[in-house]
Amino acid sequence: MTEFKDYDITSNTGFKTPVLFERFFIVNEKTEKSQFVDNISPYEPIIIGDATNYLFVKELFPSAIKYEGDSITILEESHNSSIIRVEAGRNWHNFVMQSLQLGLFNLENLALIPGTVGAAPVQNIGAYGREVSDSIKTVHCVSISTGEHIQLSAKECSFSYRQSIFKHQEFKNLLITHVDFELSKLENPIANYPDVAVYLEQQRNIHPSALDIAHAIISIRTNKLPDPSEIGNAGSFFKNPIIDITIYESLVSKYPSLPKYDIDDIHVKVPAGWLIDQSGFKGIRINGAGVHEKQALVLINADNAHGKDIYELALMIQHKVHALFGIMLEPEVNILL
Ligand SMILES: Cc1cc2nc3c(=O)[nH]c(=O)nc-3n(C[C@H](O)[C@H](O)[C@H](O)COP(=O)(O)OP(=O)(O)OC[C@H]3O[C@@H](n4cnc5c(N)ncnc54)[C@H](O)[C@@H]3O)c2cc1C
Repeated sequence: MTEFKDYDITSNTGFKTPVLFERFFIVNEKTEKSQFVDNISPYEPIIIGDATNYLFVKELFPSAIKYEGDSITILEESHNSSIIRVEAGRNWHNFVMQSLQLGLFNLENLALIPGTVGAAPVQNIGAYGREVSDSIKTVHCVSISTGEHIQLSAKECSFSYRQSIFKHQEFKNLLITHVDFELSKLENPIANYPDVAVYLEQQRNIHPSALDIAHAIISIRTNKLPDPSEIGNAGSFFKNPIIDITIYESLVSKYPSLPKYDIDDIHVKVPAGWLIDQSGFKGIRINGAGVHEKQALVLINADNAHGKDIYELALMIQHKVHALFGIMLEPEVNILL
């Protein structure tokens, strides 16, 4: 275990707004139970991966903890699949590309999502038609309060859209150390997401491999989303709201171009970016905070913004979208007030 005092992670966060921790613990596989109980748990640290999906509204926090360690081990192999154990500190995109090199498939649509393997189950990251929960078998954690090791099956993690058990208050002391993924040895590319389909058509690629899908998505994302190392951002700021179909029908009579994705017989998902764009925020700049000009769902640190500037802009967007459409946008980003 390493403990840093007055640890500034501003430049390592997604939004690049100022943030300092009085204590910052870095732990790994060798960290002992007694160190969790005696040295770490009294400070109730916030768990952090690469902080790409946090908005720090306050600028000073008592403590945080990060797991380091990025090994990959193949645990089991069968004819059609492998179970692979990955340590939580590994860079997510690096792992996705490595899985493809190993001839293991199903994560290709999640290429280039920033952050760590440890955060992936927490957020149930998803993109271009896939969610990570479809490939997770077991999540291994350590309780920060007791130092006990705990394993949770995918079912026990209660995954849903950008949700898992790890987001509930009573599980916030579980630090993920390893994730076991079950990946297919057979390619089963999902290429019907509109942007991906258009890209592959332009490339005249009618039988894309999993690697082709990953490369298509890397190219699409690079063109569409701001790189957090150049423009501070945390990806999609709000979740795409899931609404009752009757509400959609009454809205679409007023806004005929309102898009939808079917969820089930009574629910549809509508793009939060469209709602924000229609509310007049695309490309806006207020006190250094902004809304990206190509993708209205992405809030940015346009010019030395502080966390509170981005937070205030997010509140303005929520209020306006609610006033116009009657829909309350829910943040996807973890906001620390
Ligand atoms: C440009 C950009 C594009 C993005 N695109 C997508 C996208 O397409 N799809 C998508 O789903 N997300 C996307 N995101 C969001 C982000 O990449 C993911 O949420 C990612 O999983 C965050 O990883 P992180 O390591 O930075 O986690 P952090 O931001 O540090 O933490 C996120 C959450 O995970 C928890 N956490 C982190 N590590 C651990 C651990 N070891 N144990 C327990 N809890 C932990 C934290 O407590 C927090 O609740 C994007 C972000 C950016 C900046």
